[in-house]
Amino acid sequence: MYFIIRANAIFICFLALILWAASPVSVAEEPMVVPELTGKVIQGGLIRGRLPVGSQPSIDGEHIEQNSEGYFVFGFGRDAAPEAVFSWRDALGQEQSMRLSVEQREYPTQYVEGVPQKTVTPDPSKLARIQNESRLVRESRAQLHHNDYFLSPFVIPLKGPVTGVYGSQRVYNGVPKRPHYGIDYAAPVGTPVVAPADAIVTLVHPDMYYSGGTLIMDHGFGLSSTFIHLSEILVEEGQRVKQGQAVAKVGAGGRASGPHLDWRINWFDTRIDPALVLNSPPVP
Ligand SMILES: [Zn+2]
Repeated sequence: MYFIIRANAIFICFLALILWAASPVSVAEEPMVVPELTGKVIQGGLIRGRLPVGSQPSIDGEHIEQNSEGYFVFGFGRDAAPEAVFSWRDALGQEQSMRLSVEQREYPTQYVEGVPQKTVTPDPSKLARIQNESRLVRESRAQLHHNDYFLSPFVIPLKGPVTGVYGSQRVYNGVPKRPHYGIDYAAPVGTPVVAPADAIVTLVHPDMYYSGGTLIMDHGFGLSSTFIHLSEILVEEGQRVKQGQAVAKVGAGGRASGPHLDWRINWFDTRIDPALVLNSPPVP
């Protein structure tokens, strides 16, 4: 088998390594269709690819939807296992698969002091509100929109010092909490933030318990961006936004020690590292 690789040198080297590990069972003498995959196979990594329409690709048994031209997207979570199996059906309907070695990462621990104590040890009376808000976020990210915005390169939503990174173990006011899944950019309250790629707005909430003003934008086929701690949101649910369009303003609501934008990327409920998406090579 072989790969058709259209990526930069780093990814070419990396995929060359995969070549050694990947060994689909081939049907005798039938021309083998191989997936074109772009991106880094690493925890938090985003993979975009293409196969003939109807190939029914999947990753570790989870179905991956293709667009009308056969393009698709999927990703690896923060704690993805060292090996994943990518499968698809060939022209004869035979199942093909290959193993992907998922690069494992080490995450730093970050100590954050000065967040409101109620966001570290919430009052039990707030539990129903917290659960309701997390359900809204889950439902928003579970939506499947057939838009091709996921294929475009992404741009940074805000120029500012990065004060938090994907994956870090977080200790708030001395209490260990869940890892951090976004990139934090520090900026004064009111600084405009822009859409990193074209999107449909799927959730606007003025003030969530943990995340303050919260905005979710869907880039299609399960890929979404979430902005949190916003002081103001300039768009409405259902609205189409363009890459670079101002969609909200920086705030400090929720569990934050100061004003900043926290930008997260998901493939459905899988959390992706936005830094890897920014550096991802263009999709051919
Ligand atoms: Zn953050």
